[in-house]
Amino acid sequence: MKLFLASGNRHKQKEMQEILSDCEILIPADVGIDFNPEETGATFYENSLIKARALYELVHEPVIADDSGLCVESLGNAPGIYTSRYAGPEFMHGYPDGHKMPQNEQNENLILQLNATGSKNRRCFYVCAMVLLINSERFFVAQETFEGELIDDIKKQAGNGGFGYDPIVYLPQYKKTVAEISAEEKNRISHRGKAARAISDILKNLNKQV
Ligand code: IMP
Repeated sequence: MKLFLASGNRHKQKEMQEILSDCEILIPADVGIDFNPEETGATFYENSLIKARALYELVHEPVIADDSGLCVESLGNAPGIYTSRYAGPEFMHGYPDGHKMPQNEQNENLILQLNATGSKNRRCFYVCAMVLLINSERFFVAQETFEGELIDDIKKQAGNGGFGYDPIVYLPQYKKTVAEISAEEKNRISHRGKAARAISDILKNLNKQV
């Protein structure tokens, strides 16, 4: 079965291909489609459905979309759905000219903001909402989380694995940051890994029905 992934990210494509090994995972670029829908939703799930619907309108084949981000409890769960473009509280939705703050600055910035609250609560969690859209009126959603703690000093960042905020998200049960655990281990416990396996199970059941 061919499944289109509503993303431009080859890293996500590879991850999904490993989990949904019975399917051929294609991204829009594989068929020459330029795909960049506006994410106007108020929740991870809405944005995921927006991406899935937008791609379905272009390919008319089953689609998978995901939307993810990092929520910091003491910051009112910010940056949340704005994680990828977040550049501090005054630029929640990113810089007005559209340029992206480099990831290392985003990481440092987030630690400083949490420190400025004076809160002892350093808990944070990643969220991933994943939608499997079979056709415009038939879809399934899985939303999962992955809990950790934000380190208190950028000098303590560690690890080369993963991406994004992983070097500053500490997992007390491993005494390591997310960037220090293996890709396999991250996949086993992460928001995206868990959501993808839930979607994979749904897909297997659907295939049994037809
Ligand atoms: P999107 O889901 O592609 O819109 O991206 C969400 C943003 O959340 C990414 O740019 C990362 O900054 C962050 N993010 C989501 N999942 C992870 C993860 O597993 N590790 C690190 N950062 C993540």
